[in-house]
Amino acid sequence: LYQQAWNARQELERKVQERTRELADLNAELVRMNKAKSDFVSAVSHELRTPLAAIKGYASLLGTGQFGPLAPPQQERIAKIEKQSDLLNQFITNLLDIARIESGRVTMERAAIQLKDFFAGVQELVAPQLGAKRIRYAVDLDGVTTLTGDPQHLQRVFLNLLSNAIKYTPEGGTIRLGLKRDGGSVVATVSDTGCGINPEDLAKLFQEFYRARDPVNQQVRGTGLGLALVKRIVEAHHGRIWVASEKGKGSTFFVSLPVA
Ligand code: ADP
Repeated sequence: LYQQAWNARQELERKVQERTRELADLNAELVRMNKAKSDFVSAVSHELRTPLAAIKGYASLLGTGQFGPLAPPQQERIAKIEKQSDLLNQFITNLLDIARIESGRVTMERAAIQLKDFFAGVQELVAPQLGAKRIRYAVDLDGVTTLTGDPQHLQRVFLNLLSNAIKYTPEGGTIRLGLKRDGGSVVATVSDTGCGINPEDLAKLFQEFYRARDPVNQQVRGTGLGLALVKRIVEAHHGRIWVASEKGKGSTFFVSLPVA
């Protein structure tokens, strides 16, 4: 019996080692494929940028009227070309940045951010969207004054979260931005009274190109890249992001960032 138990243990150990080796090989293969994907996305995005800049440039030039006067319907079409070029440019920038941050090619600045000014700046940028939907916006910094991080990248984090909150909240709703100190971290919350998110979508929201399978998304434009980028930026700051939501009631996005 002892011999049998000993043999079985040896066999088990050999199997565990074999499986561990297979997993390590698979993992290395996944890392290699993920890098190939990021390199491909970077190369393609980069190549798209130059012709896109030319399209936008020529549309702007035509719009000035220096090649002859333009009738209002022509002006209108040119404005549309410019607007769509801007959207495509934004999309390419997000794709490039996700790939760059993921591969560690972007280093985050470490600046002392004065949060009162920082969030006033963010509010100024979203004020037109808030006004257009008559959404009430309340901020409570709860006495938290500073944070160390990359101001430009963190601004993108909060602009994305607030733009989403505005997009997915019906007219007349409320959005709250709050801060709380939690040990060595600051936890920021962005809450809305919008459409909410189904439980089965919650875990996947931060994946690239993921959009909730919700009828609301047929009306609201989006690419599914915003939250993927936000997550990369937060993690590059050694922070965490998560979400809580109730369908039909609203959503709260939490961002925890180390103070220093
Ligand atoms: P999108 O460009 O589609 O808004 P995001 O990556 O920013 O891409 O968001 C992914 C998905 O998460 C959205 O398509 C939407 O379904 C859901 N979502 C994000 N923020 C909210 C929110 N505040 N309320 C409800 N759904 C949201």
